[in-house]
Amino acid sequence: MDNFKIQEFDIVIIGGGAGGLASANRLFRKNKKLKICLIENEIFHKCIPQLFYSLFGTTKNNKFSMPISKLIPKEIFWIKKAVTKISPENSSVLLDNLQEIKYKALIVAVGARHNFDLIKGYEKERELGRAISIYDYQTYPNLKNIIENSKLQDIIFTYPKGVVKCPGVTFKILFLWKEKSNSLFHFFTGRQSIFPIPYYANLIKKQLFTENINSKFNNELISLQDSNATFGLFDIDQLVDKVIVDYDFIHVTPSVSAPSLITNSTLVDSTGNWLDVDAKTLQNPRFKNVFGVGDVCSTLNTKTATAAFYQSKICSENVLCFLEGKSLSSMYDGFSLCPLILQSGKALMAQFNYDEFPIKKLPFIQPRAESRLNWLFIKYVYPRLYWRLGVKGRMPF
Ligand SMILES: Cc1cc2nc3c(=O)[nH]c(=O)nc-3n(C[C@H](O)[C@H](O)[C@H](O)COP(=O)(O)OP(=O)(O)OC[C@H]3O[C@@H](n4cnc5c(N)ncnc54)[C@H](O)[C@@H]3O)c2cc1C
Repeated sequence: MDNFKIQEFDIVIIGGGAGGLASANRLFRKNKKLKICLIENEIFHKCIPQLFYSLFGTTKNNKFSMPISKLIPKEIFWIKKAVTKISPENSSVLLDNLQEIKYKALIVAVGARHNFDLIKGYEKERELGRAISIYDYQTYPNLKNIIENSKLQDIIFTYPKGVVKCPGVTFKILFLWKEKSNSLFHFFTGRQSIFPIPYYANLIKKQLFTENINSKFNNELISLQDSNATFGLFDIDQLVDKVIVDYDFIHVTPSVSAPSLITNSTLVDSTGNWLDVDAKTLQNPRFKNVFGVGDVCSTLNTKTATAAFYQSKICSENVLCFLEGKSLSSMYDGFSLCPLILQSGKALMAQFNYDEFPIKKLPFIQPRAESRLNWLFIKYVYPRLYWRLGVKGRMPF
């Protein structure tokens, strides 16, 4: 970085996560003459989906993280810094060492932040060992220990009204933990419905009933204190009542939104929560040389790594069209794949897009029924696909 001379690139990608890496690799393969720069301050990329599988020993492959240097060709210029400001008016970004980098086209792939700060008292309860979240990368390793050794009486799982990352994760932990435990499990959600697609929502609901899990809808977690959880009952956005429930242990699923880098910028959408992109082209409507990929985007798909991998295909094709002065030709249909586990030994690969269900974008995966084959796929094939095809931008969509 000290010898860094070039100030301007054809394409700058902010974020070396699932979507950013896949986009960088796709673009490089499509046109090796392009000057591509990836800005990512972390040295390692983590395969987040494997966090869950490690908890229940559903994966044999323990490779959670790999150096980013091994995941992109050396011709892609990697700046190991964080971006502190995006100035789309000047087509430039500012790094945390105050260096300015200019771009012809920008891909924003900074993911989403977990809004734990919206749950008052979470941190304190976490420190006291009574609250945890798989979405909390500081403490999730303790979860394995708790699942295996604890003799807790009442365990609450919460699920927010707002957008979550990979909506199946909470249910996977809930159902597999329940199988191993004699505790009483309770499920509280701020939503009316459990999953965006009614077909899958019904299957999850049925399993909650079968497993005798006390479930409450329209109950949004507001705060935690001294083993008491306060839930808000809402009429649309109006708080109409509160309920206090005590627990021995609570697993919290936070809502997510774009990081402040985006919400404090002119790239934010009208809700103030997301990077504003067209739902199909993934292009920012105001700044035509800015595109988005992955969890950060305002698109209404469910936020998964598979969606980010698929979006990287649409986004990279459209960025190239933009740079060549052509009209954008690639359209995102909202595709996402979300693995669901209702019982150990079987898995369901929920696949859908903005308008349709079921979708079979990956032809070898059955989207309607739970199966042993899907379980084996998750256990043995998924980690390899993630590293060899996903982040390499080679998924066979
Ligand atoms: C517990 C858990 C389980 C999951 N399971 C699954 C699953 O089974 N299947 C599935 O498909 N998906 C799953 N997901 C969802 C999946 O991990 C995300 O949807 C995916 O990682 C999104 O990719 P992304 O590129 O948008 O963001 P990320 O992968 O989060 O990457 C964002 C990157 O941007 C970098 N960054 C952020 N800000 C800056 C900045 N200012 N400057 C430079 N770099 C920056 C970050 O360091 C990070 O590397 C799961 C998620 C969680 C939390």
